[in-house]
Amino acid sequence: MTLECERWDLNPRTPARLDLKSNSFGRLDTLAWGDVKYPLDYINLTYISTWLCTSQDNSMIMPPPFATFSRNVFIPLTNICRNRCGYCGFRRDIGHPEAKLLTPAEVAKIIDRGVQVGCSEALFTFGEHAEEVDGFMPLLKGLGYSSMIDYLADMCRLSIRKGLLPHSNPGILEKNELEKLKTCNASMGLMLETTGIIEAHKGCMGKAPALRIKTIRTAGALRIPFTTGILVGIGETLSDRILSIRTIRDIHEEFGHIQEVIIQNFIPKPGTGMSSYPPTGIRTMKETVSMARQLLPEDVAVQVSPNLISPGELLNCGANDLGGVSQETIDHINPESAWPTLVELRAMAGVPLRERLPVYPQYVRKKWYSDEIALLLRSLSDAEGFRKTY
Ligand code: SF4
Repeated sequence: MTLECERWDLNPRTPARLDLKSNSFGRLDTLAWGDVKYPLDYINLTYISTWLCTSQDNSMIMPPPFATFSRNVFIPLTNICRNRCGYCGFRRDIGHPEAKLLTPAEVAKIIDRGVQVGCSEALFTFGEHAEEVDGFMPLLKGLGYSSMIDYLADMCRLSIRKGLLPHSNPGILEKNELEKLKTCNASMGLMLETTGIIEAHKGCMGKAPALRIKTIRTAGALRIPFTTGILVGIGETLSDRILSIRTIRDIHEEFGHIQEVIIQNFIPKPGTGMSSYPPTGIRTMKETVSMARQLLPEDVAVQVSPNLISPGELLNCGANDLGGVSQETIDHINPESAWPTLVELRAMAGVPLRERLPVYPQYVRKKWYSDEIALLLRSLSDAEGFRKTY
């Protein structure tokens, strides 16, 4: 397909004529400029992404045939955390009236609600390495545990017994910790967030990009279906975003375990260091989603969060997953952003929706799961590996 493009920033002197070849999902393979062909890694993807998303000719970017989502309950095991990210409205200090460590009874209650309304996933997301915070260990020992990982593993097993597949995000982990959690999780996650060194992560040892990359790589070596992603608008540069996505792509090409990449827009939270920063706009998100779609292999889903940004235009730019949607629990990280109902979600998406499990179909088919979750997983999945519909 040949398209005229007169963007001055592609070439300040000569109107450019671009030959863009795309596959059926709108992912560019090559860009030709006159007789010169450019592999996409060697061009500034921003220009291409911007142009594609702002072009009046939508024939180059096609919405996906359907978008996927899962139904979950959000279980914030603790909001105590060793880090202090500049954008975080979730973390609480020990002694704060809202500081908490959920008890097994509280966890069981959330899981039961999820089972009753037909969820398939228990999403365990919480503060990182809370044991390192003074005053936390007595709380944990009060529940009979000396390690958050051991407590999490037991809560995952509780979830499996009750009928929800666990997906855990405990922060950076060592190999032995990942091994311990692998058997009782359908999938796991850790946001890369950014490869950049940013002010918002100053003093947060768990946000060192090298440590996060190491955890994601180790999960790959252990063949754990994995979710990662980037935060957009937390002080990173455009180059950081491109490098972050390329880093994820390179890890996936080595290990094959990245099932989805979340492109999450920043929303300022009151009382945080970044409360006066502007929220990330739709144009930046369209550019970033488009760039991610160009760079990532097709078997990696691009996810946007429908409670944080309207997904319709982003699905046209290459997103194809709407993440875990909870009708029973709030998004504890973004409590001000309510989940759409499933009826609203269908209207916002503008494409058919298909429910998946917390583990993507290709990993169900490849049997990347443990004996501990096999029975539950098989009872919830259809022949293709999506959520079974009754
Ligand atoms: S964003 Fe996560 S890691 Fe950072 S302070 Fe909040 S809970 Fe901790």
